[in-house]
Amino acid sequence: MTDEQELVCAAPMCDVVLDDEYGDGEYSNILEAQVCRSCFQSDTDHASAITMFSPDGEVSRVILGDLVAMNPEYGDYVDASTWRREWRASSAWRGHYDTIFVSGWHEVEEDLLLWGQRTDGQDLGERIQRECEAGTLPFEVSVIADTTSNLFAQGISFWVRDEDAMRFAVWVKGEAAYEGATSRD
Ligand SMILES: [Zn+2]
Repeated sequence: MTDEQELVCAAPMCDVVLDDEYGDGEYSNILEAQVCRSCFQSDTDHASAITMFSPDGEVSRVILGDLVAMNPEYGDYVDASTWRREWRASSAWRGHYDTIFVSGWHEVEEDLLLWGQRTDGQDLGERIQRECEAGTLPFEVSVIADTTSNLFAQGISFWVRDEDAMRFAVWVKGEAAYEGATSRD
């Protein structure tokens, strides 16, 4: 028996003791506690990726896991409360993460943009990237890539700020976007 309190990895299902041999572990800004290197590594490997494209050509990235939200380029922590990320299980071993903005951002409707095919999403993503680089993107766009249990599949969703939702629809569909909007009333 010892009076010294053992510092244990704070990740669920992990009981690795953080001691001098392994260093202090890594900081989880979501749990606000120390976790072991292995949990940290696994979390960042399977994290969702959020890429924000700005009209001025700026691109910023955040990776969002269960333990850590950070800028992957600089390693600085980011406030995770901007998003909500949940695992949606379709069976014991299968499922996908679903990440959404908690507020202020609008997920562009699939039926409005007629996505449904992966290539449509890729085309859109490439256009956003191209126009961002050229400085012609008319508004901010965020792209969320979510990991799934299928190594070869990724969920992609496109988000604009609430006030830009209609402009985005027109940007993608042209005047036809207005027809779609009025028929919904
Ligand atoms: Zn751990």
